[in-house]
Formats: sequence, C-alpha cells, structure tokens
Amino acid sequence: MFKDKESFKKAFTRQMLDKLGLPLEEASEADVYKILSGMIREHVGRDWAKTNTLYKAQQEKQVYYFSMEFLIGRLLGNNLLNLGILDMVREALKELGYPFADVEEQESDAGLGNGGLGRLAACFLDSLASLQYAGNGTGIRYKYGLFEQKIMDGNQVELPDYWLQRGNEWEVRRPDKQVEVRFWGNVVTRELHGRLIFETVQYEAVRAIPYDVPIIGFGHPHINTLRLWSAESMMDPFRQPSGQDGSYYRYLDYNRSVESISEFLYPDDSHYEGKLLRLKQQYFLCSAGVQSVLRTFEKLNLPLTQLPDKVAIQINDTHPTLVIPELIRILIDDNGFGWEDAWDITNRVVGYTNHTILSEALEKWPVQMVRELLPRIYMIIEEIDRRLRIELMQRYPSDPDRISRMAIMENNQIRMAHLAISGSHSTNGVAALHTEILKKREMKDFYELYPSRFNNKTNGITHRRWLIYANPALAKLVSECIGTRWIKHPQELNGLIKCCRNAGFQSAFANVKRHNKEKLANYIFDKQGIRVNPESLFDIQVKRLHAYKRQLLNVLHIVHLYNQLKENPGMDIVPRTFIFGAKAAPSYYLAKRIIKLINTVAGRINGDASVKDVLKVVFLENYSVSLAEKIIPAADVSEQISTASKEASGTGNMKFMMNGAITVGTMDGANVEMHEMLGDDNMFIFGLSAEQVQNYYQYGGYSAWDMYNSDSRIHEVMDQLIVPGLICSFDNEFRDIYQSVLDHNDEYFVLKDFASYSEAHLNIDLAFRNRQDWQKKAILNVAHSGKFSSDCTIRGYASEIWRLIPVQKK
Ligand SMILES: *Cc1c(COP(=O)(O)O)cnc(C)c1O
Repeated sequence: MFKDKESFKKAFTRQMLDKLGLPLEEASEADVYKILSGMIREHVGRDWAKTNTLYKAQQEKQVYYFSMEFLIGRLLGNNLLNLGILDMVREALKELGYPFADVEEQESDAGLGNGGLGRLAACFLDSLASLQYAGNGTGIRYKYGLFEQKIMDGNQVELPDYWLQRGNEWEVRRPDKQVEVRFWGNVVTRELHGRLIFETVQYEAVRAIPYDVPIIGFGHPHINTLRLWSAESMMDPFRQPSGQDGSYYRYLDYNRSVESISEFLYPDDSHYEGKLLRLKQQYFLCSAGVQSVLRTFEKLNLPLTQLPDKVAIQINDTHPTLVIPELIRILIDDNGFGWEDAWDITNRVVGYTNHTILSEALEKWPVQMVRELLPRIYMIIEEIDRRLRIELMQRYPSDPDRISRMAIMENNQIRMAHLAISGSHSTNGVAALHTEILKKREMKDFYELYPSRFNNKTNGITHRRWLIYANPALAKLVSECIGTRWIKHPQELNGLIKCCRNAGFQSAFANVKRHNKEKLANYIFDKQGIRVNPESLFDIQVKRLHAYKRQLLNVLHIVHLYNQLKENPGMDIVPRTFIFGAKAAPSYYLAKRIIKLINTVAGRINGDASVKDVLKVVFLENYSVSLAEKIIPAADVSEQISTASKEASGTGNMKFMMNGAITVGTMDGANVEMHEMLGDDNMFIFGLSAEQVQNYYQYGGYSAWDMYNSDSRIHEVMDQLIVPGLICSFDNEFRDIYQSVLDHNDEYFVLKDFASYSEAHLNIDLAFRNRQDWQKKAILNVAHSGKFSSDCTIRGYASEIWRLIPVQKK
C-alpha cells in the first residue's frame, strides 16, 4: 500500500470509499487526515506485533518510562517521516488535490503535558524506538490536554482542550489488558503461618483501561508502545438498584469521581499542587502501570527475583514516585516476599530523574491525605521512613538535624524527592550544572549518603522532529554539504564546521533561514494581521511563562529600546521583530499580568508609525508543539534568559540551536554546555552566574531599589509600568508587576541583570550587521547541536542506568 506513489493513491482512494463512503472529490481535508492516519496505524500493526513478540521470545529487558506528561504534539508528519514515506505521500496527496500542510492541520496536538518535562518524555520515546531499544511509555490518557490559550484584550483566556473530539486514529483501546486500581478503605492485619498478612477492605475500585499508541522507529520496522491509562467505572449501570435507598445517587457520585481521574492534566508543572485529585492521578498511573509491567513480566515465566534483570522503570520527576511503594506492596502482599527482598528488587528496578530545584516545586503530600486515600501504601512509606531513620541514626548518631532534614516524613508531610532517592538506585539531574547543584546544595545530604547513585544525563531533543521534520530545507542543505550519515549519527553534524566559512554554503544557509522567516511572517499576518519584515532580526522567546524564565527582562528591555528610539528617532539600529509565545498557569496571577504587559507593549509599539520600520512585537497565542515547529526554524536569536541556577536544563534552547539561531542567554542549565562548545564568539552570554545568585540568596547584599535609583534606564522603564505614557494608559496599570520586582527585592534579579542584558543586545545588533560572520556563527550552532540529540541522552540512560542494549545489536 505504501510501496510506491501509484499504489498508495489507489489504496487511499479505495479506503476513502470503503471507510467513509466518499468518492475522493467529495472528501474534506479532515476526511483525508482520518483515512491517511488510519492507513498508517493499520500499516504498522504487523510490525508492532512482531516487535512485541520479539521482546517476549528473546526475553528482552524492557524499560518503562513513567511520566504524568507526554507532550507529543501531532503524529502524522512524524510517523510518515520515520516510516520513510513522507515525501512520497506529500507528492501523492498533492496530485490528488490536497496540500499536505492543510491535511496536517486537521490533527489536534496531543497536548498531554505542560512544557519541557512532558516534551522530554515525547522526545525520549522517539529515540528509544529509533535506536531500537525495548522502551515503553506509561502515562495517563487525559480527556483534556493543556488548555487552549486565547488572547482577548491582551489577556490570557483559557479554553478546554478537548483534543479527542474528532477521535484519535493512533490509539488502540485494549479492554482485555485492563487492571483494577484501589483507593480508600481500611487495612486489616492478621497472622497466617507466623507471617503478617495485610488486606485492604472496603476500598473503592476503579477500572484502568489502557490505550496503546504505536511509537514508530526511524528507518526500521521497530514499533514500541506508549500506553496511556484511562479511568472507568467498575459497576455495570444496568444492575444498579433503582434509587429508593439513595444508592443510585451514590453510584452517580462514584461514576463522576472515577471519570475525573483521567479528565484533566494539571496545568502547572512548577508549583506544588495540593489537590487530592492530583494524588489520585499519580497513584492511578503508578498502580495501573506497575500491574501491567508485572503482567508482561509474568509471561516470561521467570521468578520475580529476576525482575531487575528484565525490567527498568524510570520516573520522570517525583510525580510517579508511588511506583516504589506500589511495587513493594505487590511483592509483599500478593507474592509473599519479605521486606528486605521486596525493597532490594524495587531499588534495583527504579531510577529517578530530578527536574527542578525550585523549592516550591518539590513535591510534598500531607500525611493525612495519603493515609486516607492509600492506607496500605501509607504503611509502606512509613516503614521506608522508619528504616531510613535507623540507617541515618547509625551513620550520623550525633546529628539529629541532619536526620530530620533527610527524613521522608516530617512535619506531617511526605517528601516525594526523598522517597524517590531512597527507593531507587539512580538519581539524575538533567544538565551538568543542575546535577552539580543537586550534589552540592539541594540534595547534598543524600549525595553524601549515596554518592554513587547520583549522575548527570543532560536533556536532549529528537533531531528527527526538530530538524528533519520541522526544517526540511535546512536538513536538505546539511545533507548536500556533509552527506546523510548525520541523520543516524547526529553528532556528525559537526562535519558542518568545515563549511562554516564557505561563502556559497553561507548564502544557501541564509536563504533557508530567509524562506523560513517568510513563512512565519505569513503565519503571523494570517493569525494577527500584523505585518513583520522578514529582513528584520527575528528575536524569539517561546516557553512557559514563569517569573524565573524572565520574559519580564525581555519586555522591559524592549521598552528601553523603544524609549531610545523615541528620544533619538534617527538612531541606527538593526530592525527587530520580537516574538513571544507562552502559556501561564491559570492560577498564576503575575505570569498572566506579564502576558498582558507584553501585549500592551506590542500594541503601543506596533501602533506607533514612527518606529514601524525598526521595531515590532508579536505575541503568538497558544504556544504548543505544532506552533513551536513553525516558529523555531525562523529564529535568528533565541532568548534563554532564566535567572542562573533556576532552569534545570531547558530544551527549547537546544531546538533553537539546532535550527541555526544564536542564543542570548545566562550561564544556566544546558546553556552552560552549549557555551562550552560554542565559546563567546557564537553565543551571547550575560548576567549573574549561578554561584553569584546563590551567594546573594545566602548572604544578601543586593537591593533592587538601589538598582532603580542608580540606573536611569531602569528607573525610566520601571516608572513606565505605573505612570501613563508610552506604555500605561492609566495610573498604576502595572503596579502589580512593579511591586513584585521592587517590593520583593527582585527575587529573580531582573534589574540586576538588566545592564549586561542590554549590552548583550548591543552586541547582537553589531554582530547582525556582519551577515557573513553571523551565518558562520549560526552554522556553528547547528554543527555543535548533535550532542543535544536525545539519541545521545537515551544511550546514556540505557548504558548507565537501565543496562539496556539495542535489540538489533544482539
Ligand atoms: C521544547 C518545548 C518546551 C520547553 O521549552 P523551554 O524553553 O526549555 O522551557 C515547552 N513547550 C513546548 C511546546 C516545547 O516544544
């Protein structure tokens, strides 16, 4: 069916008739999308089954990546690319009268994640399959993904993202693989043959139904599985009593509460979310996931003592930490293991990835909530805590402070990071700097106790989606220059180093960028009616909106540029287009105000004819994976300006680098590793170092008001937040932002870094004037980006944490 264009066209036309009863002339783009994606799903069915059969036959060790988020985006284009038929299908559809770009737009983004953490999980799935590892994803099939953002009157408005409305052609519902997850109830303890037996009674059961999505490897028929769990009610509604005794209403309540488990993704990944429902979701994922892992393992007919030889579980941040007590529970209660063995097996199976050092994002759960919702799990956590305290008491007999600092349960709270570190054999940070901060500061006590557990795995991105698929013109140009080996071995992108000074290559490279900028300019005009000049420098900041990511620094600097232009209309600056995209958590007031500020500034500047040739500001609504794919290939400058020490890694930075944008950034997260390769010549570094930031937090010595009083540029832009003029239309319009900076002593050092940020932008302005040198820098960015392919990252996890080798290598 996909052998060649003509047979594809025939099969496609036929399916349109068979499945939808439509002759091709009457098919809409949505019909075309539906038939095409259905065909691909069916096409990979056999290889999918084969891959699973092979795993069983060879008793492959498998890794399960547990994550509350998978920010997958769209699958059609990526699947066609990985199957090697994207160009053929594109042409065939064109000949049938359907532009592929329009067909793609019919697919809803699977937005089952907030940002970087969820996108990382998606990139990892792509690398696992493409490198032919036996690797699976385990997540939740949220009925509603991250909200859809609309900008109304400059403000963010959230609409529900009902991504399943038009169905999901990629998933397969597997009711035969369902498991039961239990909440509430009481634990009864009795003795049987001299052993304590724990049984939970009067629990509430929920049915967990898996939906499987095939994850297609690039260039070979290796198909892994992303298993997403959906919560359904256990009872048969037709056997329920009719309602005299109120049980009917109890049933409705139960139904409602069950459905809510897999209904919404929590729209915040960096604040502690204290909701019972969130805890339910986490346990639902862990329990269903672990049961399913064990069921697959059972088919190998091996004793559970060999579980660590055949199974690795990686938990993406602490959200799935309950896999630890859940696995222990099943080993002890259902399989008769003693504590020591159950603990040892669990420890060898589980690895933990830490994603944050923002203290407000370190997960903690109230003891009482866990005790009531998950009584048996609570007992196990208590026991883990008890044993950890004994270990600590023996090791540090005269240091009670350290013991309470490190305990799992303290102040009526359960610290999930401590549970994750003690219950696993590996704890990794996601960039070199981040791991160092974990070891030296945040998790110092644990590092001293278990030094060999700590390791670094710098994040990565799949170059297949983020370069080959999102920027086909650049991928083609690269292959023309260095051949195609880089596609399988992305580090060979460094072959471009030798072309970076070649004038012919530079100009071809510039043409690709120019073409991508024109495309984005057209998109901006279609969406917002704003004309931006593709000749201008595209300076882009797209990511979640958060104080630490400092969109505020960016926008204050834009206001400063605008002030300069107003004062000095003849000022010679490189024309700039500043582009933003960012969702704010619905309850994050300050973040939403910053969105309003950006839009207000954009409105003022874009409406001022006197700067129309040199300055434009655009806020693109609903930042998502599919929008990122449109934006990133068009960037000249990538803004990665978090307060040093706050961004664990960042992955947006890597996507931009791989697409030939030059970074203006702080020495934070993976920027540090980019800088190591690129040096000061090919990156614009500014601002405080992580160490300086830490020192200010620890020892004081910084005053935001001093900055305000001593730097007239800062004084001016800050006042513009509250005094009507170029920005505000009434008194105190942005006093909330003004106060958040000045009255809280500028927690994120926006004012402190303002001067060096402005200077970095002056250097950008100068550098952009020398176009050849700029192209050289941009090419070197692409050349060094191979290190950030998630293929490298996954190889690191596989060899050092999971002890896994690719299936084909055996
Ligand atoms: C890559 C990506 C992110 C992460 O971006 P950062 O700049 O690392 O925060 C967030 N959202 C989407 C849609 C992405 O593709």
